[in-house]
Amino acid sequence: MEAIDEVHLHDEGTASTLDTGTLAEYLRVRTGCPSVVTRGPFAIEHCSAEQLPALGERIAHLKVRDLDAPPTEHEPAYAEMEFERRRLANKDRGAFGVLYDGFGFQRVLRSLLPAADVRLNRVHVVFTNRTIGTWDENDRRYHLRAIILGMPAIVSTTGLVEAPAKPRDFYLARQQLGMAARSELTQALLKERFKGQFLDHDDERLTEVAKGYAMQAVVFQVTGEAFCEDPDCRLFNAHWQAELLRAQLGGPPEYCARHEELVATMRHQRRGA
Ligand SMILES: [Zn+2]
Repeated sequence: MEAIDEVHLHDEGTASTLDTGTLAEYLRVRTGCPSVVTRGPFAIEHCSAEQLPALGERIAHLKVRDLDAPPTEHEPAYAEMEFERRRLANKDRGAFGVLYDGFGFQRVLRSLLPAADVRLNRVHVVFTNRTIGTWDENDRRYHLRAIILGMPAIVSTTGLVEAPAKPRDFYLARQQLGMAARSELTQALLKERFKGQFLDHDDERLTEVAKGYAMQAVVFQVTGEAFCEDPDCRLFNAHWQAELLRAQLGGPPEYCARHEELVATMRHQRRGA
């Protein structure tokens, strides 16, 4: 097993309750990795100001317009490219409504990494509030994703809230309210009624939840294994909010026996080195 030398946590600063400093400390302690560093927005670090406009254009191509249509790159409108340029320069916080093709987005970000940075013992995690999805060939539609594993790993803070499904009763209640459910007050009341049962935007528990997702990125890098079957392990691939909260907040132990051992091995490998 490859020992991890360095982890880069990129934070664009769009999630007020995400504390990447705490995440870095967590990974240092658990994995023994000597260098876990927090960085600013990925694109700003890896692109010059002159390159940002072209990058904005590439990202505008990745906008998903139809959830039921396979990945296609659309010719973006000028306003969409302008929006992406502002977004990349961190002058616009972005909207939750825009969905991007996750693998396409990952490819674009990977192309910005200097060759020396694309190494098995280096992990890059990008935290973003962009909504990302991947095309599923089986049911032929896009699905929202909380994380895209790989180089770099992308964790969507919007995806953590929106990708795993909320309790069925939540959708039922919203449906029964009909048009009224669109008002901000009703939305707030609905959330109050189901409080604690799902992760919300700017949730105080976000950093705690993100620890498990950062670890998923690290474990995937060293083992090539995605996710865990054990619903009490932080590496579990949650499809429901209840599963996400159980996997991420239900510990200790934080991981299943096999993954506790794997993480301990990583730590000891480091100490022995
Ligand atoms: Zn596990």
